[in-house]
Amino acid sequence: MPLAEIPALPSALRDVAAGLLHLVFPTPCHVCQRPLGRGRHSALCRSCWEALERVAQAGCRRCGWPFPAAAAARGVERPLCQRCRETDDHFEAARAVLLYRDAGIARAAILLCKHGRRLGLLRHLAALLAEEAPPDLMRRMWDAAVPVPLHWRRRWHRGFNQAEALARAVGRRHGLPVERRCLVRVRSTPPQHGDMAARRQNVLNAFVVRRAERIAGQRLLLVDDVFTTGATANACAAALLAAGADAVGVLTLARVE
Ligand SMILES: [Zn+2]
Ligand SMILES: [Zn+2]
Repeated sequence: MPLAEIPALPSALRDVAAGLLHLVFPTPCHVCQRPLGRGRHSALCRSCWEALERVAQAGCRRCGWPFPAAAAARGVERPLCQRCRETDDHFEAARAVLLYRDAGIARAAILLCKHGRRLGLLRHLAALLAEEAPPDLMRRMWDAAVPVPLHWRRRWHRGFNQAEALARAVGRRHGLPVERRCLVRVRSTPPQHGDMAARRQNVLNAFVVRRAERIAGQRLLLVDDVFTTGATANACAAALLAAGADAVGVLTLARVE
């Protein structure tokens, strides 16, 4: 029984109850069915946790995408990747921690959080993002963390916004206030599909800024779960900059390969 998800119990009590229940009826890992352990391994088993692939951190200076070893060995200092040479991004830099592949653990884990409401797993992934957020992004002196918003209808339906949980963990660890009311999703965009042009069209004008005075002149770190083509991050960054933000950086838990 997913006791860990009963919202009425305070979280400490919920953890104790889940622990007791786990002693009696050990639940298997939701991804691979191996036995679960304790702490963060109570949400994702040790072998899945260890199989989470990291994004190599010496890639494109704008979007962070790792170059093939050959290109990196040529010695050019952090050049732009092809995507960034061809794209006019509004964000200053984007970085991610995990690699998101079709059959990968990161994808399975993120989908479990989002659609399976595994809030315990989300909490541990948020801690991982906060802990491993790439230093070259984090030392750029951000003023606040801004989660990529869901449309209110989708948030209401889901009951939470995973980007908010991620932004809160990053904010706590890095001493940034979380600004979660300024950026608003005004269009409920259908799930993102297609190439970059299609995705850009899809999110065009989907975001507006309310109470712009709260972000005027600020350097904002946008936080989301997955960076795919960058279309969503770019649309958010455009709205924030148009409302007076000074600069926008992007931190995501995972990056689509
Ligand atoms: Zn597992
Ligand atoms: Zn790039």
